[in-house]
This record gives sequence, C-alpha cells and structure tokens, in this order.
Amino acid sequence: MSLSIPSPANFIEDIIVEDLKSGKRTNVHTRFPPEPNGYLHIGHAKSICLNFGIAHKFADFNGLCNVRMDDTNPAKEDIEYEDSIKADVRWLGFDWEDREYYASDYYQKFYDYAIDLIKMGKAYVCELTAEQMTEYRGTLTEAGRNSPWRDRPIEESLDLFARMTAGEFPEGKMLLRAKIDMSSPNINMRDPAIYRIRKIPHHRIGDKWVVYPMYDYAHPLSDWIEGITHSICTLEFEDHRPLYNWFLETLELPNRPQQIEFARLNLSYTVMSKRLLLQLVEAKFVDGWDDPRLPTISGLRRRGYTPASIREFADRIGVAKADSIVDINLLWFCIRDELNATAPRAMAVLDPLKVKITNWPEGKVEMVQAQINPNDPEAGFREVPFSGELWIERSDFMEDPPKKYFRLAPGQEVRLISGYYVTCTDVIKDDEGNVVEIHCTYDPESKGGTTPDGRRVRGTIHWVSAAHAVDAKVNLYEHLFTRENMTNLPPDTKPMDFINENSLEVSSAKVEPYLQSIDAETRVQFMRHGYFWPDKESSSDALVFNRIVGLKDSWGKKKK
Ligand code: ATP
Ligand code: MG
Repeated sequence: MSLSIPSPANFIEDIIVEDLKSGKRTNVHTRFPPEPNGYLHIGHAKSICLNFGIAHKFADFNGLCNVRMDDTNPAKEDIEYEDSIKADVRWLGFDWEDREYYASDYYQKFYDYAIDLIKMGKAYVCELTAEQMTEYRGTLTEAGRNSPWRDRPIEESLDLFARMTAGEFPEGKMLLRAKIDMSSPNINMRDPAIYRIRKIPHHRIGDKWVVYPMYDYAHPLSDWIEGITHSICTLEFEDHRPLYNWFLETLELPNRPQQIEFARLNLSYTVMSKRLLLQLVEAKFVDGWDDPRLPTISGLRRRGYTPASIREFADRIGVAKADSIVDINLLWFCIRDELNATAPRAMAVLDPLKVKITNWPEGKVEMVQAQINPNDPEAGFREVPFSGELWIERSDFMEDPPKKYFRLAPGQEVRLISGYYVTCTDVIKDDEGNVVEIHCTYDPESKGGTTPDGRRVRGTIHWVSAAHAVDAKVNLYEHLFTRENMTNLPPDTKPMDFINENSLEVSSAKVEPYLQSIDAETRVQFMRHGYFWPDKESSSDALVFNRIVGLKDSWGKKKK
C-alpha cells in the first residue's frame, strides 16, 4: 500500500512533496539548529514551528526533527543558553525525543573530512594575514587573487594542519581554506576558510581542540551526519548554498541534504538579533533575557503568552521567500483572541480614586453577581463584595467634562459594572485643588444594571470595594522601540537610538480580592484594561501582574 502524501501548504512543502513523489526521498528529516549564544526569540519560534511542523505533517514518511546545538564558536557559547533553548522548544510544545545533537560531537568527523579535502588537493593551509585575506578576496565587482600558499604541496598542508591542531601556532597565524575559485562571482566560493585557530576552551569539550571548523563547513556536514533531508534556513544563507553543496559533492557524500531558504521573521517595533538583545540585557535596560518587553520566547512566556498563541501566530504568518515586516498587532491578536474566549473577567483599578456612597447603609457589605466570562456562559457567576467606599479609575471622573463624556462628573450618573447606578454629588479636594475623593448617591433600585423606570445611563465603569481591595503592582508595557521598521534604519542611526524610554509603566493598583486566589497559570481579563497574569515574582501577599495585551484590536479592525 502506498502512503498518501499530504498536500503542501507552502513552497517548502512543495519541494518535499515533489521529492517524495519522484522517489528522490523516502523519508523527511528536518532539524532546528540554534547557536547557543543567546536566548531564542520569536523568529526562532517561527523556525521551530516550521521544522517540527513539517516533521509532524510528514509523520507517515518517518518525519522527524532534530535539535542540534550549532556550537562551533567557543567564544560566545554557553551551557546556560543551551538549557534555555531546550526549555523554550519544549515549552512551545515540541519533542525531539532522543535526537538532541551537538555539532561539537562531530568535531573528529569534521576533522577527518578536512584531511580528506587536503589529500584531494581541495584544501590548503594559508598563511595570509587577516588584512591580506581581505585584500586578496576581491570585491563584488572584482575577482580575487590566488593566495601564494594555494599551490603548496599537499604534504606541507597536511603537516601544517597537524601542527595547527597540536597548538603550535598562535591564533590568526594560519587558516585551512577550501580550494575552490578565487574568481567566482560568489564571494563565498573564493577559497573560504574551513578551520581557524581558537585557543579558547569550549564549554562542552574543554580545550581538546584548538582548531575550530567554520559554520559554512560544519553545517552541511552536521546535516549529512544526521541524515537530514531538507535543511531549512533563512534567506541570508542563499548565497552560501553553492558552498554547502560544494563540500558535500567534493567529499562525494551520497544522499545529500537539500538546503532551502525562507524569509526570516521581522516584527515591527522590535529587534530580533541576539547580538542586540544581548546588548539590552547587558546594559540592564531590561530585566534579563525574560523581560516581558523582549521578543524572546522566555520574555513572551513571562509576559503571559501561551504556547498555542505563538504557534497560531507562526501559522498565520506563513512561510515566504521574500523579506517583510510582520505587524506586531498580529501577534497581539493571536493571544487576545485566545484569551477573549477563555479568560475569567475581574476588576482592577490601576489609578485609584476614592468614591464614597453617602446613602449606603453604614458598614453594609453586599455580594453582587459578576459574570465570569460573557463568551462562556457555562462559566457562570462570581460574587464580588460591594460596599459604601469604592475605588474607581481616576480617568473615569472629570470635574469639567467635555460633551460626550459619559463617565462620572458632578450631577452625572453612571452604571457600576455588576453593581448599582451612582450619581456624583460632591467633589472633595486637597489644599492644592487636587481631587482626592468624590461623593455619590446610589439608586437602591438599580441593582444588576437596570432600573424599574428603565432610564438610560450611558457610562459603565469598573470599581473595587475599598475595604476588600488588595494592593497589586501592575506592569504595563509599550513597544520596546519607537520606530516601526527596525530592519531598515535611517543613515547614521543605530537601533539603540530608537529605544523607547517609556516601554514600562508600573502602576500601584487596587484589585479584587479574588485575584489573590488565582494560580500562576491563570490569565484574567481586567475589565476595560486588557489581559493580565501574575509575574514570576508575584506572591499572594505581594501581587504583581503583567499586562499581556490590551483590549483594543487594531489588527482585526485593519482587516475589516
Ligand atoms: P540572530 O541573527 O537573531 O542572532 P541567528 O540566525 O544567528 O539569529 P541561530 O541560532 O543561528 O540564530 O538560528 C537558529 C535557526 O533559527 C536557524 O535555522 C535560523 O535560520 C533560524 N532563525 C533565526 N532567526 C530567525 C528569524 N528571525 N526568523 C526565522 N527563523 C530564524
Ligand atoms: Mg547565527
């Protein structure tokens, strides 16, 4: 019985389907190959969802996806990063089973292949200095020149390479280079370096090696060693593909993996490069790699994103061959859409102003019924304490309101969500003229939001009973950068010039007592404010909430 081939959803799957149909491949094997030199970001999430998604989709064709740490640069890599990468992939919901690999495990194989290349006359030890290398390389419009060491005897290169490996020479003194074509229009093919001397201990294998393979050499070989069929990478490697193929072909390796490039994810108002994210972390502009403002997976997790919302986002952006910038509103839309259906509603006052209800019976507390989630009638109601002293939002009161301001103002009546109608009767000020408290009367017949006379009230505001309110610190986030397009900056500017100094606003809020009892996984809607969840530093006696996303949906609106 022949297996049915799934229908392709993008150009990468087109290639895979074609390969299965033609019999070029009988299986599908992808990999996610991060360099452990930083924390993963949402761009990596796109790549993870893509690679694991393909393996899953082609499960009938033994679809598998490996995780491979591309640890070929001992200077920047670290075990902390490896651990965070694994935690992030797992959190996103993907499982590499026992296929956790390290390029550093292949160092001996890389080395043996390098010797093969030298013996074939396809690689040589070069002693040009870095400066000379640049000079000899040529430019986009000018061919390069052959190194004077290019035609040295094979025996000599073998001997020097062995001595490089034995640690006889200082860093920068020599390189092993592939012998390809110094006049190639593709600069990557102009005798690229394969090995360099690096006398820095490697975080996994210590000082066993002092020569390190270059990425362009290690990558195709790692793919081949693992039996990868489709090696999916981002567009900037397109010009490296001839080199990728050259190594595999020259070494006459059968059943070669195919490199396929797609456009990397760029997101408006933020940066993706690990180098820039590291700068923000090191400058302590943000509170570590998991700062909720960062586009890192750990930052999104701490902010309150769910794995499902990120997978949904990856799905919606699709895979293309042309670079673009995705509107960050789409990411927000994905989490908002999910939480709108699932999050219980609660009331929290972020900028509190005291209201005294002068005709409320002294000391009386009444439990009112609040609907838990209007989108989920099954969820039912919750009891919320109502009393004669409440907190409301400072912005829900104006002493001299303009026309069409329907919230509280002297003489104006509003509906308190799930409570009563109240009318402002008095404004209490301090010596400087600041409003410190307002007085209202309530209509005892308006319980639940309607009155027997059916009179209309146009404003509806939220509140928290002062005697029952719990203090909470609430973190509100804005864009990390003020500029929408961070991939294409004006001349003479750098990303840090566009950092948003106001990307975090902290508010001292008064919240419903119910919020003390929610568990660490519960995301709630603070009515009229957005979706929130407890920060990792929150505890029941010191509540801290992060705003995941606001309520305003500028993505859905744009779509319409
Ligand atoms: P950065 O430039 O952000 O530091 P990188 O490409 O150096 O990222 P790697 O650890 O080498 O990071 O990437 C691991 C995998 O994730 C690669 O296959 C890479 O192509 C992919 N990847 C990295 N950034 C993005 C992105 N913005 N969109 C999609 N895929 C990405
Ligand atoms: Mg990289």
